[in-house]
Amino acid sequence: IVLAVQANFYDVQLDLHSVPPEAKGIASLLCIRRSRLKKIGQRVMVGDRVCVEEPDWEGGRGAITRVFPRQSELDRPPIANANQIVLVFALADPPLDPIQLSRFLVKAESTTLIVQLCLNKQDLVTDTELAEWRDRLAIWGYHPYFISARQGTDLEPLRECLRDKTTLVSGPSGVGKSSLLNLLLPEVNLRVGEVSGKLRHGRHTTRHVELFELTSGGLLADSPGFNQPDLDCAPTELVYLFPEARVRLAEASCQFNDCLHRDEPGCSVRGDWERYEHYRLFLEEAIARQIAL
Ligand code: GDP
Ligand code: ZN
Repeated sequence: IVLAVQANFYDVQLDLHSVPPEAKGIASLLCIRRSRLKKIGQRVMVGDRVCVEEPDWEGGRGAITRVFPRQSELDRPPIANANQIVLVFALADPPLDPIQLSRFLVKAESTTLIVQLCLNKQDLVTDTELAEWRDRLAIWGYHPYFISARQGTDLEPLRECLRDKTTLVSGPSGVGKSSLLNLLLPEVNLRVGEVSGKLRHGRHTTRHVELFELTSGGLLADSPGFNQPDLDCAPTELVYLFPEARVRLAEASCQFNDCLHRDEPGCSVRGDWERYEHYRLFLEEAIARQIAL
């Protein structure tokens, strides 16, 4: 599995069941991409399952000769074979802004990945406030993991959700994403000194996406924090990025195939669901973007 890419080098984690005895416990190799792959334009991404040949166990080097078919592929950040996105937001400090949260959710829903929500800083809100968010988000179609990264509380259900999966962690800055990653990956600093140390050295100075191993099994990727993802979907596709609208459409379709769910007659999406307003806001943005193109 390719854990990191930098310049033209790939940090490849080895499948410990298939390394020969002479590998003597080496966990990863710094690899180049065979020129045949370059010729056929085969890209190698973080998260790719690859075949490594000609290992030089002493020097910790190898060559990637083949990339196995991908289960999923994201462009921003560039990552292959991720299973899910965990969106991290804070319940307070900064205050949880429903529209910003919706924006991140809609962006995440536009991928093929499963979308999970983690609400941090539960130590800053009352049980009542927390319950209100839980109920509200259930109506949106989400069942968040409530945690406090500072206090290290209620992490177990989240850890369970991450087990044996490849997860992309995303969210705006200031919500405690780094605090959470440090809790989930206490061993990362230790890993830096190992074979792939040279490559990993740049972790904090580059914006490259990188995968980290969870001790309990599974991989985590941290995506650079940004406060407002741009939604670049077609106006007609937007509605499918709202789980609660999908439910409405499954129950009854609209009268018109090209319904944008504004004032069209026979629309089954328009109604008194909370995020309908968000839908309308994002729709206007999507239409404006389409006109600008
Ligand atoms: P990031 O920008 O998302 O990576 O956020 P950081 O991990 O850097 O955290 C931003 C601030 O929030 C820091 O001052 C943290 O100490 C604080 N913080 C993180 N998690 C929690 C939490 O669970 N509760 C509280 N009260 N503060 C937290
Ligand atoms: Zn409609």
